[in-house]
Amino acid sequence: MGSTRDFPVFNLNHPKNFIGYLFVRQTIDQTTSIAAAYDRYQIGGDLVDAQRGAERFGWINRHTDSITPPGEQLLATTREQFGSITGGLTAIEDLYGSSTRLVDAHPCWKPALQQGVANSPRLIRLLRALADSTATSSRSTLSLPEFFLALYQRAPEFALTAFIRDNHRDNLSSLLNSDSDQQTILEELQDPSFYYVPTVQQLKSVLYHSGILTTRGSDARSLKPGKPAFEWALTNDYQLPGPETTGLKATTAHGSPLEASPHPDEQSPDYYPPDRADYTTSRVIRNTTIVSELKDTYTSTCQVCGEQRKRTPTQPYAEGHHLKPLGNPHNGPDAKSNLLIVCPQCHADLDYGLIAIHPDTLHVAHEYDQTRDSISLTISEAHDLNPRFLTYHNQTIVNWDWR
Ligand SMILES: [Zn+2]
Repeated sequence: MGSTRDFPVFNLNHPKNFIGYLFVRQTIDQTTSIAAAYDRYQIGGDLVDAQRGAERFGWINRHTDSITPPGEQLLATTREQFGSITGGLTAIEDLYGSSTRLVDAHPCWKPALQQGVANSPRLIRLLRALADSTATSSRSTLSLPEFFLALYQRAPEFALTAFIRDNHRDNLSSLLNSDSDQQTILEELQDPSFYYVPTVQQLKSVLYHSGILTTRGSDARSLKPGKPAFEWALTNDYQLPGPETTGLKATTAHGSPLEASPHPDEQSPDYYPPDRADYTTSRVIRNTTIVSELKDTYTSTCQVCGEQRKRTPTQPYAEGHHLKPLGNPHNGPDAKSNLLIVCPQCHADLDYGLIAIHPDTLHVAHEYDQTRDSISLTISEAHDLNPRFLTYHNQTIVNWDWR
């Protein structure tokens, strides 16, 4: 998986700002800029962060700069509740500087907020670790050190990069891998200076305001045992989305479970199971024609990140990726409906299960790379991609599914 130590894992601020960004974008005319309207309604926080949040929560498509179906749904709910989007903006303005929890002030936005959180595999993985360890310990609340340890036991690299300041990670790794007993480790982990502020404050506040966690965050200096900010617990009515798995986990395309029986879709006449050279190995002979045709359709531009790589200064270079891999145990079809044209980096990331793609909204979630996260898959009208293969990729290769 390579070293991914210093990436900022979550860049979030108050989720009312994400909603505010969407609303402002909807109300401006030729005479006002988004920035001016954003200031006028005193939404708060940084405009770029708010935009990023609206993209991350899946309300705005970054590639096309358009509002997505979930974004439209949030606008419709707001018109219904407040009479107009301007009414919704006034409601957000009224929250400026307030400590009221967003879903308590305006429960109508709760489904959109929780769906937005569900757009991020990292957030859901974190919440699933919390749900699993509270269930295992038969307690509803974990302290920050207990929660960190539970996450560390499931996903060490993720836990360290998400929760621990980079200058403490090496020390803490040594402690966590030492023979020390759990109690000693937990006592060490009480030190608030270990923790990464964006996670323990901003991320936690987002989850609190979305009605998912019971307490809000705090910056690391004021994290103390016994204080609400030190506690991690899910609200009683929060439903974790997706199947009961351990969350986003990098598995290679090989060694994944065999699907019980092929879906009827995959037996329709345009899917030819690839020929096999049985006399040597079970090497799959790929149909290079369909890949070259599809590369032409996209002028070798990556459907995931939009980059066009070159093999020479003038010749573009791209690769074909089979979402449901060819050969055992997957036996995916060698057909355009199962193919993406991608750059070598996105190809590797797809193979390692670092990229999940929503089958309906085409929202792309990357395990750690922010430049490839919260973007949308590009699909040409000439390319009849079957969303079922995106679902197969998410469930089997990434071990992640939105549904
Ligand atoms: Zn790419």
